[in-house]
Amino acid sequence: MIDLFDKHRPILERLSRVGPDDVNPVGVTNERMLSPTRAIINGRETILAGTNNYMGITFDPDCIAAGEEAMAKFGTGTTGSRVANGTYSLHTALETELAHFLNRRHCIVFTTGYQANLGMMSGLAGPRDTIFLDADSHSSIYDGCTLSGAKLVRFRHNDATDLDKRLARSEGEEGGKLVVLEGIYSMLGDRAPLADFVEVKKKRGFQLLADEAHSFGVLGPHGRGLADEAGLEDEVDFVVGTFSKSVGAIGGFGAGNHPMFEVLRYAMRPYMFTASSSPASIATSLAAVKKLAAEPWRRDRLRENSTRLFNGFKGLGLDMGCDAVSPVIAVKCPDEASTIRMWNALLAAGVYVNIALPPGTPNKLCLLRCSVSAAHSNEEIDRIIELFGQVVAAHHGKKAVNA
Ligand code: PMP
Repeated sequence: MIDLFDKHRPILERLSRVGPDDVNPVGVTNERMLSPTRAIINGRETILAGTNNYMGITFDPDCIAAGEEAMAKFGTGTTGSRVANGTYSLHTALETELAHFLNRRHCIVFTTGYQANLGMMSGLAGPRDTIFLDADSHSSIYDGCTLSGAKLVRFRHNDATDLDKRLARSEGEEGGKLVVLEGIYSMLGDRAPLADFVEVKKKRGFQLLADEAHSFGVLGPHGRGLADEAGLEDEVDFVVGTFSKSVGAIGGFGAGNHPMFEVLRYAMRPYMFTASSSPASIATSLAAVKKLAAEPWRRDRLRENSTRLFNGFKGLGLDMGCDAVSPVIAVKCPDEASTIRMWNALLAAGVYVNIALPPGTPNKLCLLRCSVSAAHSNEEIDRIIELFGQVVAAHHGKKAVNA
């Protein structure tokens, strides 16, 4: 008999390479949350620089009150799918608010952002269709593609010319074409060159979906994401987003203007065959989205903090994931072993960042990934820079990490 677990042995071998005194980077527990930017980890107060809590809204008193009130009024869970007993007035109120915020005619809320991608991709594309994916797409986009049964064509990351070439090759094929991009890419923090892709769209014709998971609430004059920042919202047919980052809760959405959009509610298995998000989470998200609309100072503060960290790292000579400032700031490291060592040294010194290793990274990069929050104080940002400086110097001499 072949043990079904045999295929997972390489995972255990990899985990065994973590040193005896090291913390397992994928097994960190926040013992207590002190604020959006501080937690007790391994018994000590730690600055959090890897939470995706972009607006630092998780401890906002209005959001907490909205969640508490909803739990008291509607209970702890919905115990049902949106197409059965799981649609509460809260879900429809959030969909209305989001559609308004996004300036889109339709919006559908999902239980997670992962399911939003699974649902939207498999609802839009079927076995006759082709999905053109940026090679660096998030796993939920790849999984959505698998679920759809559509033909998958990958194009080079952020390369509109490569997309154009691949579309040219598929000219005359039957079925629709869906192109999928992300606003801010989660690993390196770079943005899609949307204007270039829109040029290709005008030439070749396809429907375009933007996953604004890391840019929703963050980019653009209205906080609607990259398309808002680029002034190209009319060219993006469908938007996907999550509540697990700038909204500080859990859930996701898909939105668009297509007159038949609502039919997706009856065509998306990840929407139909799972329980809807809990009343507390939906009410919290609703309060947070209202704040994103009413309090643009949060975006300004996030931009200031991101610029401060970016410039600080530049000053240290670190090799960063991209040249543009965004709240995702990744530092390239030479190899897996030194990345794990530096990650541990940072944690021991009092700062938590994300570690990102192949195969989860583009071009097999080893990364120490920071995400900045509007709630970080200048002192916290400066401390993160100082600790990176110390750790890099200790591991590589005074020189920068030249990956
Ligand atoms: N899309 C992208 C680009 C993401 O980075 C993520 C989460 N990291 C998701 C979708 C899924 O979001 P959620 O955490 O809400 O499932």
